[in-house]
Amino acid sequence: MPRATFPGGVHPYEGKELTMDKPMKTILPKGDMVYPVSQHIGAPAKPVVAVGDRVLTGQLIAEAGGFVSAPVYATVSGKVKAIEPRRLATGAMCNSIIVENDGLYEEVEWPRMKPVDEMTTEEKIEAIRNAGVVGMGGAGFPTAVKLAPKEPDKIEYVIANCAECEPYLTSDYRRMIEEPELVIGGLKIAVSLFPNAQGIIAIEDNKPEAIRKMTELTADEEKITVKALQTKYPQGGERMIIYACTGRSINSSMLPADAGCIVDNTDTLAAIYRAVTEGKPLMERIVTITGDAIVDPCNYKVRIGMNYRELIDDAGGFVTEPAKIISGGPMMGFAIFDLDVPTTKTASAMTCLTKDAVAEIEPSACINCAKCVEVCPERLIPKDLADAVEHNDEERFVRQYGVECIECGSCSYICPARRQLAQLIKGMRKIQLGKRAAAAKK
Ligand code: SF4
Ligand code: SF4
Repeated sequence: MPRATFPGGVHPYEGKELTMDKPMKTILPKGDMVYPVSQHIGAPAKPVVAVGDRVLTGQLIAEAGGFVSAPVYATVSGKVKAIEPRRLATGAMCNSIIVENDGLYEEVEWPRMKPVDEMTTEEKIEAIRNAGVVGMGGAGFPTAVKLAPKEPDKIEYVIANCAECEPYLTSDYRRMIEEPELVIGGLKIAVSLFPNAQGIIAIEDNKPEAIRKMTELTADEEKITVKALQTKYPQGGERMIIYACTGRSINSSMLPADAGCIVDNTDTLAAIYRAVTEGKPLMERIVTITGDAIVDPCNYKVRIGMNYRELIDDAGGFVTEPAKIISGGPMMGFAIFDLDVPTTKTASAMTCLTKDAVAEIEPSACINCAKCVEVCPERLIPKDLADAVEHNDEERFVRQYGVECIECGSCSYICPARRQLAQLIKGMRKIQLGKRAAAAKK
């Protein structure tokens, strides 16, 4: 029997009450728009506009740079002001197309799409590819590539990842409550690509209203079921949600398709729906601006490329200077130091906190309590892996399956000695994955 949870995991403070009941607010950007050419895994997109060009909302401004890549579209009308490196929320610099927003929001003429029922599988995937849809839960993997596995007949489950287990985040929740038809429509399209697949809408049980709504709206859909998952972090991790829904396991050398599964995030499904039925590129996403340092925490429907500072200002600014600003949520997000960064296809939140619980407590020596082992969803021994990293012992790290870490942060969260376990493991894991990729190329 499929299980509705996974081994391990933690129960951090949810913080969702700050924005859960706040309807999505549509906000039009005022300032310049910044479009990084790398908002996805794979080759950067290649600019197809030049400085001085006028662009329209929905116009292609950078084409895919390879098979595993995704195009980028303007989300406002205006003039291309510069093409230059700009800082992202991750702290990295990325070549970006800067558009001076003229405030007119003139649009391109949208293509006329065939009815979905008359489209072939290839036509649907092409529409998704052309629209620049990528995994919007944070991974940024091009969705058209994910939806075209080598053996489509072997896909049995398309899982709508509506768990949203990361504390504070409510963007997926609001999409489910306010625009469920987009999510269900996107899932139906994804399921239709595979002859033997059924769809599962997987939602944590701390969102009963979303479970009720989705169940009601899919009552007549033979191929779609709604599955309530136990509320536990990191339930929305790809490996965790596959296990919870199907009882199947994958590791770092496998793709979900190897276990007969495709997993797509809530917002990604909405983007799939728009791409296939309306021919519209990925131009907007839902962003949660939250945390106890924000005057009026909100969920925004944002045009991608808009500056985060405009969102923070619209949310009333800061109650007091935040001790920590995180792009994403507190478990898997990363601290940022500059608000002048653009929203991208993959960024779902900005969490601003008055206390930095991590910085306030000095790490101390391990007390061998084994709590990190109990919570690790990958059944690793985080304390040993961290030891291996501290001794630069790569062989031990690999022998103890360090590359299987999913960087969920549960071990760091639970550790009473406040050891930065996940941070240490993450660094070494990145090196090992790089070595593995280089060896595979030889
Ligand atoms: S070792 Fe990795 S997978 Fe395990 S709890 Fe720590 S961060 Fe998560
Ligand atoms: S949770 Fe922290 S203190 Fe306990 S065994 Fe793991 S590293 Fe050591």
